[in-house]
Amino acid sequence: MAFDHFGDPDVLQVQEVDTPLPGPGEVAVRVAAVSVGRLLDLSARAGTHPYARITLPHVLGAEHAGTVAAVGAGVDSVRPGDHVAVVPILTCGSCAACAAGALEACESARIMGVHTRGAYAEYTVVPAENALVVPDGVGPAEATALVWSGAVAENQFEQAGLEPGEWVLVHGASSALGSLTAALAVHRGARVIAGTRSAEKRQRLLDLKVEAVVDPTDPGFTETVQALTGGAGVDLVIDNLGDPEIWTATMAALAVRGRVVTSGAFLGGKVELDLLRLYSRSQRVIGVRSGNLRSARRIWTAVAAGFRPVVDRAFPIAEAAEAHRYLEASANTGRVVLTTADDDWAAAPDTPRNPS
Ligand SMILES: [Zn+2]
Repeated sequence: MAFDHFGDPDVLQVQEVDTPLPGPGEVAVRVAAVSVGRLLDLSARAGTHPYARITLPHVLGAEHAGTVAAVGAGVDSVRPGDHVAVVPILTCGSCAACAAGALEACESARIMGVHTRGAYAEYTVVPAENALVVPDGVGPAEATALVWSGAVAENQFEQAGLEPGEWVLVHGASSALGSLTAALAVHRGARVIAGTRSAEKRQRLLDLKVEAVVDPTDPGFTETVQALTGGAGVDLVIDNLGDPEIWTATMAALAVRGRVVTSGAFLGGKVELDLLRLYSRSQRVIGVRSGNLRSARRIWTAVAAGFRPVVDRAFPIAEAAEAHRYLEASANTGRVVLTTADDDWAAAPDTPRNPS
């Protein structure tokens, strides 16, 4: 599913492309499901992505899941037939950040489906270390929803030092990443307040066992949060949106020794910081770019303990344009995915044929 010019969702059309073959250290994945993301997919397709330089024709698709179809020389971490979920960040592998396992800080990091051909396709070829084996009992749509959002949320919690029993406010909680973050914080024993502007998404978020759903643009927002937390405020705020309009209220709702994790500036990101308030209350503002391979592996520990992501809806990949329109309308609560097979994981893998 490719596009040869930027535009509305109908530019997505089926095209015939060469089947990629795995080189040394790489694996070929027969794709079963792929995430649809607001920034990586919708704005890349529309031609409004802030940093992507896309060569047309282009195939979208970042994090995805599927069955290993073939492995290149030297690969022993996975075998053909394994179910894998793919971390979509491609790194240089040799800089100081890569050596430290912090792939999110690699200066030459590229994102699959943005800087390279993506996973709206029958096959991808990815570095073997990016293909994580999915445990039994997890379907491809769930695996896709988990692999990168889970890595980001795990890294945010690690950087902020989240402890069980702490109060966590998640902004943008109805998004794919936000809903997973809220649910994962609940899973880790935190007391979670879900922030959303949408009254219709309230019940769906309460179903995640959050303590309350609040609208951060409500004039009584800070008082509501203070009341919920017994006057102390929240210990941790996860903000993946960077909305300047709610920053002051957010900081006013932050407890002494509270932390704000910021992982996005989608809604502007330029804010005023009251340093007197920040230092005198021993608070921290922490930038976390995304996840990394370590945090991506950690999410499967939570999965083994019963954690599952929120998958809002799966569209057959032939209806990719429809899925883009659905996400553009913010109709979702949780992850939207495209699936390539109408059964669960794709059927037994074919060996990719050499296109010649
Ligand atoms: Zn690097």
